[in-house]
Amino acid sequence: RRLVVAVDGPSGSGKSSVCRAAARRLRAAYLDTGAMYRAATWYCLDRGVDLDDEGAVALAVEDLPLSLSTDPDHQTVTVGQADVTEAIREARISERVSAIATNREARALLVAAQRRLVDEAGFVVAEGRDITTVVAPDAQVRVLLTASAEVRLARRGLQMGGTQSTEALQRQVLARDAKDSTAVNFTEAADGVAVLDSSDLTFEETVDALVSRVES
Ligand code: C5P
Repeated sequence: RRLVVAVDGPSGSGKSSVCRAAARRLRAAYLDTGAMYRAATWYCLDRGVDLDDEGAVALAVEDLPLSLSTDPDHQTVTVGQADVTEAIREARISERVSAIATNREARALLVAAQRRLVDEAGFVVAEGRDITTVVAPDAQVRVLLTASAEVRLARRGLQMGGTQSTEALQRQVLARDAKDSTAVNFTEAADGVAVLDSSDLTFEETVDALVSRVES
């Protein structure tokens, strides 16, 4: 059977941990599409591809030897022989990932790969920025997971161990959001997409809210 749970949202909305937990509870696969943009960025940097050269970036993504597990309990990302599961979370990747996200050809290639992964999985919680609108607009469950700017900043602060100043964090999050919205608009829910605002919810409550949308 095919049952797709599509979740979009901005960085710091808690999307990844919420979706992974929901997938576990549902015994569904979990697809982190952001990891694919990050892996593509890692590959370009590793090969010394000039990220300002759109054509070169598109060519690199064309033969990106990416493999991504969709098991919510064992999320591994490999590029060729390299296990990049940890490396793609580094700041040097987050800072450059918009070069991939704003590249039309690269996006088309990654979206095609994501559609294949969704089809293969059948029952899957897929998350990103354009899942409800582009990758799987026909998903049975479509959710925009949001949180207020304050809450997102606070959560990111926690994620980073609270070592950075609020101001520096604010700059980073806002800069990334601004870059992202040049490629995809995720601040407003598209037609038929339900908004789930997690600002006043605990982690468990947010997972419950998502899971109940699938079970109902
Ligand atoms: O979700 P995550 O923060 O790991 O995503 C990393 C980056 O990948 C985002 O900042 C965004 O630029 C890009 N992205 C995207 N479309 C998606 C998923 C991620 O453009 N579906």
